[in-house]
Amino acid sequence: MTISTFEDKPAVDRQKMNLLGLSPEKLEKFFKDMGEKPFRATQVLKWIHQIGVDDFDQMTNLAKDLREKMKSIAEIKAPEVVSYHESKDGTCKWIIRVTGGDCVEAVFIPEKDRGTLCISSQVGCALDCSFCATGKQGFSRDLDAFEIIGQLWIAVKAFNSFGDKANRVVSNVVMMGMGEPLLNFDNVVDSMGLMLNDNAYGLSKRRVTLSTSGVVPMIDKLAEVSDVSLAISLHAPNDELRDQLVPINKKYPISLLLASAQRYLDKMPDVRRKITIEYTLMDHINDRDEHARELAILLSKLPCKINLIPFNPFDQSDYRRVTKTALYRFRDILKNAGHTVTVRTTRGEDISAACGQLAGTVSDKTRRSERHTNKHQLQPIKFVMS
Ligand code: SAH
Ligand code: SF4
Repeated sequence: MTISTFEDKPAVDRQKMNLLGLSPEKLEKFFKDMGEKPFRATQVLKWIHQIGVDDFDQMTNLAKDLREKMKSIAEIKAPEVVSYHESKDGTCKWIIRVTGGDCVEAVFIPEKDRGTLCISSQVGCALDCSFCATGKQGFSRDLDAFEIIGQLWIAVKAFNSFGDKANRVVSNVVMMGMGEPLLNFDNVVDSMGLMLNDNAYGLSKRRVTLSTSGVVPMIDKLAEVSDVSLAISLHAPNDELRDQLVPINKKYPISLLLASAQRYLDKMPDVRRKITIEYTLMDHINDRDEHARELAILLSKLPCKINLIPFNPFDQSDYRRVTKTALYRFRDILKNAGHTVTVRTTRGEDISAACGQLAGTVSDKTRRSERHTNKHQLQPIKFVMS
């Protein structure tokens, strides 16, 4: 019997290293292992992330023999764009196929003073919040770093190819798509590192936001390695109600969660930084005056701004959207108690791109629900890459 080892295999059969998701440190190591100088990492980072190049031959400041060597062992491969959709209100959505065949979604929301890209960190989500389309699907797997940063790479490249006509720029990134980012810690941290790096996307730490439903130990771990903005998905002013909406609350109740949020702020040198508290409002569930009053007291000591999100219904949801009257009453109670409050306007609903409607396709490992199908028949717009 002959045993074939990795070394026996021709180079083409070996899996190539995908450089798209490598952090600057890992890219430096890649070049060091090749016997090259670390500044090659800076050059290649710029080609990949600033210019959107995925072909080594276009990297004209690298010697030809280095490019050939890189081609034999590495590649720059973004996940596949299945379809691209544009809403009446300018919101854009990409359905992206990741390795293994599942799909995730990324959404771009243009506003007057900014353009926010909302990206996914996992295929599905294991945390099963009762009001969330992603949670209803169960969990399939973590996204790789190249699949996370690949969503930003795809959006930036697409907007560059649209030319002047569209004038769309990604100025902010929020990890508020599918999945719980703190449960895919290393890949999310590597991807956020690229978002902040001046040789890659160069976004400011205030313009990159990680949203979590409250994985308390990982909030502390995040504070050790990152200083991005933190959003906490609270949705209830007491444990009894939050236990029903956000099951992870049974493990990490509100008092522990808010204490970890405070510790996160304490690690930041800039005392003006604030936590964003997200509160999805559902009719007759968490939208009563007494909820608002309880929330105002609960958050009175935490430096925070409160973002109220009217619930977005989806196929299998049991909840209704808050009424306008209840929404504004809720907001005013918080404001009168001295809180900074914003109301998130629903965007991209006609293409199922609104907050909490992102579903993609997940091979539902936990069999918690039927495979999600979109209520709206989407008309994909032909996607053109430059
Ligand atoms: N897992 C992370 C990030 C993804 S969810 C988290 O939970 O924070 C991003 C935000 O969308 C969260 O605040 C979440 O509570 C909210 N959301 C989920 N489903 C929603 C829905 N149907 N309508 C409105 N907001 C929703
Ligand atoms: Fe997961 Fe966030 Fe949805 Fe909860 S709200 S199921 S944590 S994606």
